[in-house]
Amino acid sequence: MPLYDFHMHTFFSDGELLPTELIRRCIVKGYTAMAITDHASASNIEELVEKVSRDAALAWQHWQIRVLPGVELTHCPPASIPALAAQAKRAGAKVVVIHGETLVEPVPPGTNRASVECPDVDILAHPGLLTAEEAELAARNGVYLEITSRRGHCLGNGNTVVLGRAAGAKFLVNSDTHSPGDIHTPEFARVVALGAGLTPAEADIALLENPKELLLRVDSLRA
Ligand SMILES: [Zn+2]
Ligand SMILES: [Zn+2]
Repeated sequence: MPLYDFHMHTFFSDGELLPTELIRRCIVKGYTAMAITDHASASNIEELVEKVSRDAALAWQHWQIRVLPGVELTHCPPASIPALAAQAKRAGAKVVVIHGETLVEPVPPGTNRASVECPDVDILAHPGLLTAEEAELAARNGVYLEITSRRGHCLGNGNTVVLGRAAGAKFLVNSDTHSPGDIHTPEFARVVALGAGLTPAEADIALLENPKELLLRVDSLRA
């Protein structure tokens, strides 16, 4: 069964593993493709993308696994998100994740809204108490809403599913891995989707179809 995950951390921010060890462990768990998205702000976008791109190239050459260099813009001023997301894409980030308004951290209010309005944002992670209006903007602008297995952040999954579904928004299931034990298996990713309230058919779309669509978007960027 294919397995995709577009939100993972290394020790370039607060994860435990080097990119190569994270990638190797993901291969063993059955990953098809993955994104490395360390915490970023204006200070470190270029550095992160450049470093991860080198290991992504190595992984492709020797292990034939698709690793997308990305960033997770984290606790940035909401008004700065358009410029920072564009900066990340210019730097070569294939995936721009925003650290959304999780229920367990004082993320600046307005972060969700700025993210779903921004064409350079791919994924709004753990949006917490996302509003119906924000869900509609996400649907309209092609910003994926994240269903997460991350402790604490996962408290908002139910609300994300209910409002996202009503708005016709698209979901992705991510691990937000910081430690080896956070890495998914295909079976666990499915359990996370179903536990958040997706139907089996919706889970298939979130786990299999939406990731392929995102990869196509990435490929079109490159062309
Ligand atoms: Zn986050
Ligand atoms: Zn994260």
